[in-house]
Amino acid sequence: MMSCVNAEKYYRLQDIISESFSLLSGSGIDNPRLEAELIISYYTKLNRLQMLLDGAHKISESKREDIIGSVRRRCNREPIQYLLGEVWFYGFQFKVKKGVFIPRPESEFLVEEGIKFASGSEGHKREGLNIVDLCTGSGAVGITLAKEILYSRIYATDISPLSIEQTSWNARHLGVSDRIDLFIGDLFEPLKNRLPAGSVNLIVSNPPYIATSDINSLPPEVRDHEPRAALDGGRDGLDLIRRIIEGSAEFLIDNGCLLLEVGQGQAGMIKDYIGKNPVFKSLEFRYDYAGIERIAILHG
Ligand code: GLN
Repeated sequence: MMSCVNAEKYYRLQDIISESFSLLSGSGIDNPRLEAELIISYYTKLNRLQMLLDGAHKISESKREDIIGSVRRRCNREPIQYLLGEVWFYGFQFKVKKGVFIPRPESEFLVEEGIKFASGSEGHKREGLNIVDLCTGSGAVGITLAKEILYSRIYATDISPLSIEQTSWNARHLGVSDRIDLFIGDLFEPLKNRLPAGSVNLIVSNPPYIATSDINSLPPEVRDHEPRAALDGGRDGLDLIRRIIEGSAEFLIDNGCLLLEVGQGQAGMIKDYIGKNPVFKSLEFRYDYAGIERIAILHG
């Protein structure tokens, strides 16, 4: 009898699920079953219900290697969003790859406050709104504002070329690249010769705001895998926040607004700073669901 030399070896789906589950739980990953299913679903294109119903589904050896390779990376605390290459933000799917900051749910409050500002802004449908998004990262905030505020033009900047490349991809994929201009550079720097003084209605930013000395106590997913430049806000975390507050005055129109995501415990320091440097007429904070003053709302 002839033996088939090239016969591919197959594995049963349910065995791969168990193997992934035990690797992940053995490494202390919080939701091992869910994460195993997400990774397997990514490679097999089966949804979670199909996986449950068809445990005998055959998985090729090479696919098993891809799956277990990803599971091992997750055991090494690589964020699941990098392994799957995507993240949901405000109901939209964004691509995100290693080297680019992963958008967080807290930043959805920036979007909500931006939309609130736009809807209360007289005549924005007539004249349109100019919106600047600083430290755009994957573009989540700026692109979502473009999706939600149709009469808007977005100017997004980031010092990381990789971020701008990712934002450009996301803007195209989500169909707003005709209303978003992207610039590589430090905060307002690339906008200086492009936007006249007093021409911006709204500035939004989720800048790096972690104090340098706190970086080591962040979860390993963040500390070891996300870009440090997107996290490190200097000695007290406020280096970029202060520079954004100072730089905003030149660009904002009268009655314009600056929205900043800030870190836990920073509201008091920001109030003091604004008290001493009255660049804005008013400052209030929007709390997140954890009861943290998360979004600084500054009116010009
Ligand atoms: N919120 C982020 C975190 O917890 C930090 C975001 C930032 O520095 N902008 O890791």
